[in-house]
Amino acid sequence: MKTQKRSNLWAPWRLEYIHKKKLSDACPFCTELKGKPSAKNLVLYKDKDVAVIMNKFPYNPYHLLVLPKAHVSDLCDLSPAIAAKLYKCVQKSYEAIGRAVRMEGANIGINLGTAGGAGIPGHIHWHIVPRWNSDTNFMPILAETKAIPTHNLKVYETLSKVFDSFADHMSED
Ligand SMILES: [Zn+2]
Repeated sequence: MKTQKRSNLWAPWRLEYIHKKKLSDACPFCTELKGKPSAKNLVLYKDKDVAVIMNKFPYNPYHLLVLPKAHVSDLCDLSPAIAAKLYKCVQKSYEAIGRAVRMEGANIGINLGTAGGAGIPGHIHWHIVPRWNSDTNFMPILAETKAIPTHNLKVYETLSKVFDSFADHMSED
């Protein structure tokens, strides 16, 4: 049987699109948010618009990420309604950490773009990093290599109990 030889179409202008598509397909947040919240994906809460996920590489224990469900990279691309809901989610997540552990301070913010320090620049996310007075000297210098004293899965277990009632808190006025 004769097989027909297929010639490949060379279309270099598609490379950028394919590359971008691959990047977007590989977004770890979008992947994790497909499943139900569990210790495996470290998702603590999700509804149709927003989600709360534990940072896999935390700067400190209880380091949470709050993000829109949609794969949006820029702050200006969020609708006012989603932006407001995200802010509420940040506030309620901060409150939830406080119910799980005694913080002495916190850093809350967004890194925009790789130049801004974003690890996953394609999908905007707020960091909520609890702080303790004793960690001050270590964090800026050893953020990447710092030993996390509390194991992430143990933290997930603790936080997931607090986040059981998170939907009620999100619907509060
Ligand atoms: Zn994404």
